[in-house]
Amino acid sequence: MADCLFCKIIERKVPGRIVHEDDDLVAFEDVNPQAPLHVLVVPRKHIPTLNDLAPEDDALLGKLFRAGARIAKARGVDGSGWRTVMNANHDAGQSVFHIHLHVLGGRRMAWPPG
Ligand code: 5GP
Ligand code: ZN
Repeated sequence: MADCLFCKIIERKVPGRIVHEDDDLVAFEDVNPQAPLHVLVVPRKHIPTLNDLAPEDDALLGKLFRAGARIAKARGVDGSGWRTVMNANHDAGQSVFHIHLHVLGGRRMAWPPG
């Protein structure tokens, strides 16, 4: 999608520190990391919010989470602990309207989230 920041990162029109990619998804470092590990995993398919998921996206979501688990393992936080976050719409803090899985780790996380 022309006006979408994450589509532009996927298409290499905007620079991003890409750590993993395959046919379905791209993972890159968050520009404003909230933890020692903060990677965003995004589908190549432009889906604005979780409200827009279709039944045919079920497998894609599984791939997103499994990519997150691989990244957590590669960064050595699979055992110590890590967190995924997907914000949907404004009250949750979604600021980029192309769904993305935050993969956070490397420090103790608070609960409940703010
Ligand atoms: P949201 O608030 O939508 O859940 O998450 C958006 C995330 O995208 C934020 O954590 C923010 O730091 C990150 N972000 C915003 N602009 C850029 C950018 O240009 N490059 C990268 N790598 N991350 C970005
Ligand atoms: Zn997009």
